[in-house]
Amino acid sequence: MIIVMKDGATKEQIQHVLDRIHAVGYKSHPIYGTDKTVIGAIGDERSRANPEQFQTIDGVEDVMRILKPFKLAGKELRKAPSVIDLGDGVKIGEGYFTVMAGPCSVESEKQLLEIAHEVKKCGATVLRGGAFKPRTSPYAFQGLEEEGLKILAKARSETGLKLVTEVIQPKDVELCANYVDILQIGARNTQNFALLREVGKTKKAVLLKRGMATTIQELLMSAEYILSEGNPNVILCERGIRTFETATRNTMDIAAVPVLKKLTHLPVITDPSHAGGSWDLVKPLSKASLSAGADGVIVEVHNKPEEAMSDGAQSLKPSKFADLMQVLKKMAEIEGKKI
Ligand code: PEP
Ligand code: MN
Repeated sequence: MIIVMKDGATKEQIQHVLDRIHAVGYKSHPIYGTDKTVIGAIGDERSRANPEQFQTIDGVEDVMRILKPFKLAGKELRKAPSVIDLGDGVKIGEGYFTVMAGPCSVESEKQLLEIAHEVKKCGATVLRGGAFKPRTSPYAFQGLEEEGLKILAKARSETGLKLVTEVIQPKDVELCANYVDILQIGARNTQNFALLREVGKTKKAVLLKRGMATTIQELLMSAEYILSEGNPNVILCERGIRTFETATRNTMDIAAVPVLKKLTHLPVITDPSHAGGSWDLVKPLSKASLSAGADGVIVEVHNKPEEAMSDGAQSLKPSKFADLMQVLKKMAEIEGKKI
């Protein structure tokens, strides 16, 4: 339920409401505004919490049930768009178009540093690179693991770029969180609820990708797992879904961008590389994403795509990435977004 406090409700009155919420076994998610405090009370729907009881407490103006199943991700409790601040001027959300770029996998220090300097020069603000790779085949390259994380950290200290990397199992969350700024949950783990709960226990930003067969509502329910553990820093990512079409690696659901924007206050980005599966589709799909209202893109860039240990076919060479950034900068200006 949503509890709206009266203008000028005292600290004690607010605290009393929070204590009552906890006493009935719910978690509280207060939003402190300049005049008004609004408190989300979220918990087991079978519990004995009764909105009418809360209505009688001093300082309470109104109590409403939350109708959508995604209570924290939805807009009933929080209307204002969430903007995630990674520090040093790097923000993700409404008003910004954040470009995350880098190789699919961290392969070596030389490879990653070269690419990091290139993408930085072109204007990306976040460096991507997988250290733990979820591969379809157990015989394919699985990533450099902690050595890869150390290489990423070196690239951050040389370039100032923020870092995003994928975490594939709960036991690695703490390790990855020690090295990077954003934890990525990949399409194969969108509904790995143990993993979602574990990243929800950190305060790190989480880039939650849409699974290849998850609906928009299921994606929002996965975000809800992270939010309900107390981590508000979730970024959603449309990366293409499985359809009958075989001409592209996945089908980019471009409508998911405005639909998500309507349903949630969370930032929404897209991954045109994994959606299209081919480097020449990255530019048109990135342009479409910006036009559709996305808050950014995550793009694979490789200095030698023909030698890449994963996803070379969909990786842009640095010169093509430079060209993409030029176009996106012009478009972002028209849309009034900082890039
Ligand atoms: C990736 O980002 O390299 C990746 C594996 O993406 P996805 O989970 O979207 O397939
Ligand atoms: Mn990849």
